[in-house]
Amino acid sequence: MAIVKSNAYGHNLKNLIYDIDNLVDGYGVVRISEANLIRKVSKKKILLMQGVYSSRDLKSAKKNNYDLVVHDQLQFDLLEKHNFFKNIWIKVNTGMNRLGFNNKDFKRLFDKSLFDKDFILMSHLACSDNPKDNLNNIQFSRFDKVASIIPKRIKKSIANTGCLINFPEFSFDWVRCGIGIYGGHFSDDALITAMTLRSRIVSIRKVQPNERVGYGGRRKLSKEIKIANVYIGYADGLPSSLADGTKVMINNQEATLFGKVSMDLVTLDVTNISNCNVGDWCEFFSPNFSIKNIAQFNNQITYDFMTKISPRVKRIYKELD
Ligand SMILES: *Cc1c(COP(=O)(O)O)cnc(C)c1O
Repeated sequence: MAIVKSNAYGHNLKNLIYDIDNLVDGYGVVRISEANLIRKVSKKKILLMQGVYSSRDLKSAKKNNYDLVVHDQLQFDLLEKHNFFKNIWIKVNTGMNRLGFNNKDFKRLFDKSLFDKDFILMSHLACSDNPKDNLNNIQFSRFDKVASIIPKRIKKSIANTGCLINFPEFSFDWVRCGIGIYGGHFSDDALITAMTLRSRIVSIRKVQPNERVGYGGRRKLSKEIKIANVYIGYADGLPSSLADGTKVMINNQEATLFGKVSMDLVTLDVTNISNCNVGDWCEFFSPNFSIKNIAQFNNQITYDFMTKISPRVKRIYKELD
């Protein structure tokens, strides 16, 4: 199952569906508007991963044949009210403590209302990108425990990208792969960043020792350096919190962020880059320069960078060569 919520993690949902529709068995989204958009172009399974919260949305899900996650009793009551139990995924809380039935509540629900129904048992992992975290084992064992009280025919799903890579033995019947599709997973260098974020240098200047650069004068110079201004800022989705020293690529050479990101500009130290001119491209991430670099250096997650590129940024969607 390709997880394509939030406009396919910022990659253009519609174009992506055209490209991958014959590669996947289904799609996972959160908003019903995203499901509706997919249904126009695909007949595959579409899972609303947080289910529905109103009769209106339930009717729409029914009409379009969406799968529904049920994560609490209120959602289950809604299904009962409409006597609709097709394609439901029952979510159990195994330790993330966000959504899902606790084991006891699940057992009560199963005995009372689910024993004669078909459904998929699902849960979500909190630490799958860190295989050393013991919470993974706790979650797997709680999931096993719930699975042991239901019939064997019931299908199961717990894996997101991190689980697929670090614990493939827990793939069960459905895997829900999101960030891996877009190449934003940290621990597998074979996955290539799909998105490029780049802009051009609009000015270059020399700055003298003891001068300060950018808002707040965050950086003070001890020696003369060469500063390049690139035409992109926090209004484009580059966090204003980016740290000095964050690496970027200009003409296949590394430059570093120097001073605070402004609304429309960012200042870089390009002293050591030979041959860099106004009009040259500066890449923040790309297939050749993993999105891991900017995320890890700033203690952030790649998801954040992909999903926060703002509407004013010109987007070009290219198929793979
Ligand atoms: C977003 C999401 C996923 C995908 O997670 P990735 O880490 O991007 O692979 C899987 N399952 C659920 C319930 C999600 O919300």
